[in-house]
Amino acid sequence: RNTAFLPQTAMNVDLSALSHNLRELRKKTPGSTRIMAVIKADAYGHGAVAVARAILDQGVSFLCVSRISEAVELRNAAIDAPILLFGNALPSQVPYMIQNNIRATVASLDFAQMISREAVKCGGTIKVHIKVDTGMGRLGILPSALSVKPLVNGQGPAEEEIASISRLQCLDLEGIYTHFANADSRDKTHTMGQIDLFSNLIERLEIRNICPPLRHSANSAAILELPGAHYNMVRAGIALYGLWPSDEVDHGMAQLKPVMSITSTIIHLKKVPRNFKISYGSTHVTPEETIIATVPIGYADGYNRLLSSRGQMIVKGIKVPVVGRVCMDFTMIDVGTVPNVQVGEKVTVLGHQGNVRVSADDIARLCNTINYEVVASLNRRIPIRYI
Ligand code: PLP
Repeated sequence: RNTAFLPQTAMNVDLSALSHNLRELRKKTPGSTRIMAVIKADAYGHGAVAVARAILDQGVSFLCVSRISEAVELRNAAIDAPILLFGNALPSQVPYMIQNNIRATVASLDFAQMISREAVKCGGTIKVHIKVDTGMGRLGILPSALSVKPLVNGQGPAEEEIASISRLQCLDLEGIYTHFANADSRDKTHTMGQIDLFSNLIERLEIRNICPPLRHSANSAAILELPGAHYNMVRAGIALYGLWPSDEVDHGMAQLKPVMSITSTIIHLKKVPRNFKISYGSTHVTPEETIIATVPIGYADGYNRLLSSRGQMIVKGIKVPVVGRVCMDFTMIDVGTVPNVQVGEKVTVLGHQGNVRVSADDIARLCNTINYEVVASLNRRIPIRYI
């Protein structure tokens, strides 16, 4: 094996932890409920192709991405499971979507008319999932109770809009869905309102015999805490990767194992005197003589610059501080407290050594963000090792 190009910094993606998390989520919902895996943003930074391959073997039957480029990557890797595109497709993308079994999200009648025209032109049928905005305020048709549009023939405008969509040519209405804004909050009032609006719309569409067969709303938080939101399909994202949607979701609901860890290597080491200045801006000045190690990870890898003089890494089982500003390619740590450190020593940037851990939540707190952004911001400059 050629070891000349072994990476000094690597992302380790533990596929057995991924399978474990999937089994934990499976326990939360009946076997008849289908699980979609949300693998947008390169599977939240974990590598979409490998993640898709691993979970499709284990009972996941549907994939969700946001961009057509993400769907193309999966198809180019010969992954042929159904894919739902959360984002809007362009007219020019419709033939590709038809040929490649990619479902479009339809969030308005105008958009449905556009893709219907394109499908007619290329002589195929496009499968669609209708998106309903029950309170996320992002994409979707407003349920009649929230709409300022007038009644149409005595009927709610949402039902009428969906009825019009159902009459369009070359569209196969396979699904209908909504997305929660606050399912990860302890206070479920807003989410319960969203569920009511969605269930109510489904009932009205069923009466008119135009309700698509697949109905879904639950993200990870709702899979874990709101069985009433499961319908016949759920969309699992962050929990698959072993992370909690928020601190307010009851961590007793499942045993999640983080899938991702990042390890690096000390590539340079030096003893420095008191009052020695570290990194750009010289924002860190050593209070006493110490040993400074340079680690090859920086903001261009997705290691956030807000971790400057705030982050921590683990060396020989000891947490050590990031000192000075995180650079584009390098970060310095003070290893003065660690005995016998050598160049080549392993550094855990994200993950654990024994009981000592730096979690995505720890990093998120320091960066005033959420664990989702921490993992999704790490990028392909860090090679992935699947373990
Ligand atoms: N469904 C939609 C439409 C989403 O945008 C997302 C992610 O943000 C998910 C499901 C999955 O959410 P989570 O990662 O919280 O499980």
